[in-house]
Amino acid sequence: MPMLELNRLTPLTGFGRAHRAVSYLFRPTHVEQISAVFDLARKHGMSVTLRGAGRSYGDAATNAGQIVLDLQRMNRILAWNPETGVIRVEPGVTIRQLWEYTLEDGWWPAVVPGTMAPTVGGCLAMNVHGKNNYRAGTFGEHVKKFTALLPDGSTVTCSPRRNRELFYSLISGIGVLGVFTSITLQLKRVHSGELQVEAWAPPNLGAMIADMEARKDSDDYIVGWIDGMAGGRQLGRGQIHSANYLPPGEDPAPHRTLRPEHQNLPDTLLGIVPTSILWRLMAPWMNNPGTRLVNWGKYLASRLGEHKIYRQPHAAFHFLLDYIPNWIRSYGPDGLIQFQSFVPTARAEATFARMLALTQARRLPSYLVVIKRHRPDDFLLSHAVDGYSLAMDFKITRRNRARLQSLCDDLTQMVLDAGGRFYFAKDSTLSPAAARQYLGEETVTRFLELKRRLDPENLLQSDLYRRLFGG
Ligand SMILES: Cc1cc2nc3c(=O)[nH]c(=O)nc-3n(C[C@H](O)[C@H](O)[C@H](O)COP(=O)(O)OP(=O)(O)OC[C@H]3O[C@@H](n4cnc5c(N)ncnc54)[C@H](O)[C@@H]3O)c2cc1C
Repeated sequence: MPMLELNRLTPLTGFGRAHRAVSYLFRPTHVEQISAVFDLARKHGMSVTLRGAGRSYGDAATNAGQIVLDLQRMNRILAWNPETGVIRVEPGVTIRQLWEYTLEDGWWPAVVPGTMAPTVGGCLAMNVHGKNNYRAGTFGEHVKKFTALLPDGSTVTCSPRRNRELFYSLISGIGVLGVFTSITLQLKRVHSGELQVEAWAPPNLGAMIADMEARKDSDDYIVGWIDGMAGGRQLGRGQIHSANYLPPGEDPAPHRTLRPEHQNLPDTLLGIVPTSILWRLMAPWMNNPGTRLVNWGKYLASRLGEHKIYRQPHAAFHFLLDYIPNWIRSYGPDGLIQFQSFVPTARAEATFARMLALTQARRLPSYLVVIKRHRPDDFLLSHAVDGYSLAMDFKITRRNRARLQSLCDDLTQMVLDAGGRFYFAKDSTLSPAAARQYLGEETVTRFLELKRRLDPENLLQSDLYRRLFGG
């Protein structure tokens, strides 16, 4: 049995690098080793946080001064049926591993987030969504069943019919109810390694939302980039990308486009600049005047290419941010936070307009703003609504931390007033009261009752859990 040796102490951060914590890190390869770490934690009166690839922006996968179980080495593919597209995997298998394994047989994960680095376990705990949330639902909606190790050492198998309550709670349960140890997913049949993509540039927020609304019943994926610097009548201007799967027979060479090599993101820009150094070239522009100029150029270029239609490999469409390795470093040593909120359709335009205007009035504009369409789901700690999400990245500096928290508090209130919701994978600034308000008393009570039932010793915790639910 391992001891809590000092050399296990490891500094860890959330993806945004703004939240840092030192923890005793364990990297199990088998379920028995997870149980052993649970015993060890009990013996030392410590808590345990589960961690996948650490791609949550804030404090969901950190545990200051306590134990962290990094599950990335539990990354075996356990079973694959190329006829049905059903795959069984360990929790540390990443989104990248998934599609690299299955695409050649004509299957793609039904839901993927904006980066391929996350693990399947992390995607379940946050119940991630993709650019098709309004159509395909969340990651959890494509899980046929999972097995989880509960903190008391017992094992449970759950599906939408078997142990239903646990199925709908552990998925979305922020990793504090149990450990996913094996997951069975239904993948999506694709007939090409490419999507048909269309891009155009709405001149303001009203047009952006109207266009997305008009396309939601016909298009498989929609996502909008917003120029967070543009104000006045151009507030909310930006670019929409919509994409559709190709029907059978449309791709003249599916055997070629379905090969994983066809999906590889280029490692040079325009065949000249290595993508590995791009973050260094971006860094000098990561300030208000620099971003204003870059956004202006990007918007102008989008207008010139109005309603451009082209084909793009799945990976290139979905994982735009993975094109630029270490892009987060361009934000500087203090990193960034993301503020993502979800607002029902009827209130989305007015609420997002006020929020964008407030960021500009406070001179804390977001350097990256993304808008997506969503639909509600049945999972306990759900973040989605029948409406839109706005994700805003804010650069942190030593001087702006307090002003940024105050801005986020005011943005939070606007979202709550509009009946909106938040997402724990992205959160760094919510208060316990705000979390309670958007989730509702009944949901919080159910969650905490379940937590007490499954984990009476409160073994599974995280910095996020303690911040919002008191630990
Ligand atoms: C560039 C970028 C783009 C993104 N785009 C999107 C997007 O489009 N849509 C979206 O929904 N999200 C998006 N995300 C967020 C990301 O998908 C989620 O934070 C996801 O949960 C990260 O998975 P991970 O493996 O890194 O898990 P971590 O961040 O390490 O952990 C996330 C949670 O999972 C828990 N956990 C991990 N493994 C297990 C397990 N085996 N059993 C139980 N609990 C476990 C942890 O305790 C923690 O609560 C994005 C993140 C980045 C960095």
